[in-house]
Amino acid sequence: MTRTVEFTGTTAVVTGGASGIGRGLARAFQAAGCSVVIADVDESALAATARELGVLGVRTDVTDPDSVAALADRAVAEYGEVHVVCNNAGVGPFGPVARLGLEDWRWVLDVNLYGVIHGIQAFLPVLERNADWGHVVNTSSMSVLVAPANVAPYVASKAAVLGMSEVLAAELAEAGSRVGVTALLPGAVHSNIKTSLRARPGTGATGLYDVDLEETGRLRFIEPDEVGAMVVDAVRANELYAVTHGEFRDRAAERAARIEA
Ligand code: NAD
Repeated sequence: MTRTVEFTGTTAVVTGGASGIGRGLARAFQAAGCSVVIADVDESALAATARELGVLGVRTDVTDPDSVAALADRAVAEYGEVHVVCNNAGVGPFGPVARLGLEDWRWVLDVNLYGVIHGIQAFLPVLERNADWGHVVNTSSMSVLVAPANVAPYVASKAAVLGMSEVLAAELAEAGSRVGVTALLPGAVHSNIKTSLRARPGTGATGLYDVDLEETGRLRFIEPDEVGAMVVDAVRANELYAVTHGEFRDRAAERAARIEA
């Protein structure tokens, strides 16, 4: 697909839109001319970001299909259509693969994988109603290529999102759909994820996140606004299917070379 799209007068919905990359996506689609709806489970952060950006905020728990369906209904009621959905909300506890509890595994898969599935199922019929175009953006992670230690449930969920996005893109292309799919594979991005990923809420657990990657100086962190701009460019070009930034592409290539050696 090489057709470019026009954003003015369209609507973009972003889950996990209250902070970090979601906030960057919201700002970028707003700057491109879209009306934006942000959705998040964190009510106070959602209200603050919605106020700051002057956009509609809808409290949504992506683990609950009814909550995501209600989000789609609300966006359509407000704006009449939706052209872009960014299934971006994400979490993940850190710890060795063999010692993480099953509750942690379920929590990560519920948010990171089922949250994306709920978003696709609620929004795809809405996107397909558009006469011109629509686009699904699913946030995976470059961790699926570099496989860092202590994030197995996270990497498993993000690999599933990547694979599912590829299948969705193939299914839609085969059906002659006007809806495109982008899997977003961010590298290291400034956000709240370092604190939000320390522990599953309600467990009281601390200290799972034992290495602050940024403090080690081994990674260059980029800003959520840079990610947002890359995604807007990809959607504008209707580019299928993976977006990332160069440093991680290089690291992934290095890793592949090491494995082959
Ligand atoms: P973040 O913690 O700043 O943002 C995540 C947002 O998701 C938060 O506002 C949180 O409240 C929301 N959220 C969590 N559970 C939810 C639920 N059940 N329903 C609705 N919203 C929920 O972190 P971020 O880095 O901006 O993460 C955004 C996405 O980017 C995630 O999918 C994350 O895995 C992915 N990612 C981040 C990085 C990075 O370096 N920051 C790298 C690769 C991928």
